[in-house]
Amino acid sequence: SDIGSQKDRVVTEEEWLQKWELGNIGFHKEQGHPLLLKYLDVLLSGRSGLRIFFPLCGKAVEMKWLADMGHSVVGVEVSEQALKEFFAEHSLPYSEEPVPEISGAKKLQSTSGNISLYCCSIYDLSSSIVGKFDGFWDRGALVAVNPRDRQRYVSLMINLMEKNSSYLLVTVSYDPNKHKGPPFYVPESEIKSLFG
Ligand code: SAH
Repeated sequence: SDIGSQKDRVVTEEEWLQKWELGNIGFHKEQGHPLLLKYLDVLLSGRSGLRIFFPLCGKAVEMKWLADMGHSVVGVEVSEQALKEFFAEHSLPYSEEPVPEISGAKKLQSTSGNISLYCCSIYDLSSSIVGKFDGFWDRGALVAVNPRDRQRYVSLMINLMEKNSSYLLVTVSYDPNKHKGPPFYVPESEIKSLFG
């Protein structure tokens, strides 16, 4: 029943912006995620110069890692503060420009050109705007999506997939009756039905 009650729970964009303003960002990993290193070969399968997508990217340091390895990184995040902190914390110069297809959206791009971060809702994006990707790093993204939006989110991800792409999804296994977060419980069966 606890799992069921999460179905209608919603975290609004406004609430996410507020988390960033208040510094309630316990999800951010300053040292980066060890699982990306562990599964790097699965993501890249020996290929270089890939396009890698970071949905709901926050200021994930893994974006810097992959860019430093020569890949091209695209992220999307509603909090402009998060994106500015990303560039500042890595001392990366960047420029800002509007995104003509999405009203109110901005693209923040590193001067070197290999990191492009869209400040807008993930649901505003499409492959006609950002193209398709060879690799995906989904950590704290599917689990942060409101349960009612999961299908839409995954359909978009599938739409952004290039042929032979790899999708790394970080999962956390726990008893949803003992723990309410982080921040939504996604049953394994649902992951299988969503991604097929
Ligand atoms: N992947 C990151 C951040 C995870 S927290 C990491 O590993 O650290 C989830 C992030 O998604 C938050 O930064 C939040 O501001 C952002 N977010 C929430 N809803 C969003 C939406 N609809 N579109 C884009 N970003 C969103």
